Amino acid sequence: MDTHELFAKTAELLRSARHVVIFTGAGISAESGIPTFRDKTNGLWSIYEAEKLANRAAFQTDPALVWGWYAWRRSIVRQAQPNKAHQAIAQISDRLPRVTVITQNVDDLLERAGCKNVIRLHGDINSAHCFTCGHRHSGKLAENPSPADTRLEPPQCSRCKGPVRPGVVFFGEALPAEDLKTAESAALDCDVLLSIGTSGVVYPAARLPHLASQEGAWTVHINTEPFRKAAERTLLGSASHWLPKLSHSLT
Ligand code: NAD
Repeated sequence: MDTHELFAKTAELLRSARHVVIFTGAGISAESGIPTFRDKTNGLWSIYEAEKLANRAAFQTDPALVWGWYAWRRSIVRQAQPNKAHQAIAQISDRLPRVTVITQNVDDLLERAGCKNVIRLHGDINSAHCFTCGHRHSGKLAENPSPADTRLEPPQCSRCKGPVRPGVVFFGEALPAEDLKTAESAALDCDVLLSIGTSGVVYPAARLPHLASQEGAWTVHINTEPFRKAAERTLLGSASHWLPKLSHSLT
């Protein structure tokens, strides 16, 4: 099937779908200026490997380094604006009877574009809680506009004085059980799943497109890289190119 046929078939199936799942990864926010984990060209990402900073052991060993890195990422997220792909997902959600939006992203660009009830599998960079007792931190969260000067001591928990950590799921940690269950149920139940801007290497989230395919759903990746197995359908190109076209096809 060539690109034109794949787009046309996907648009047709979206129009008649009972339940659509839209599953997003870091690539959808790349065009808003938020680097992905595979982007080695931008500041700290070229100096540190994300997997080595976004984990519990790193936070325990050097909390100021990890907190400072997240403060830098938080300032990038705050300055970023939703792009046409985030907006198109909000439109598609409004135009179809049932759409479940699931994200691996820790930014809030889908919500700022108008998406409601987004299932966040990897947490929220704009929240924080105590590393020791889990108590939610209600204070203002630090930002750090400079990737060069990244170290920043985390605040202390107001309840137990433990260090406050970012409200994200670190590599190696369990995903929020209820959210994962809801996401898996949606993938098993849907008839179309769009997998957008994700490399498909971070599990268990990466299982969702496979679950949908196994149950017979029409599963399509939208990605700038042609790295998929031949059997996986991919609309090659940016999320902001394809999603507005899909949204427009529903009018
Ligand atoms: P990833 O970095 O592993 O992969 C990004 C994918 O997006 C790649 O396959 C790339 O080819 C594709 N891509 C890049 N630009 C694109 C575009 N304009 N349109 C379509 N595709 C594009 O990201 P991932 O698969 O989401 O998984 C890694 C982890 O990254 C997740 O756990 C997530 O929490 C975290 N992360 C989140 C953010 C964010 O919240 N914005 C940013 C960086 C990393």
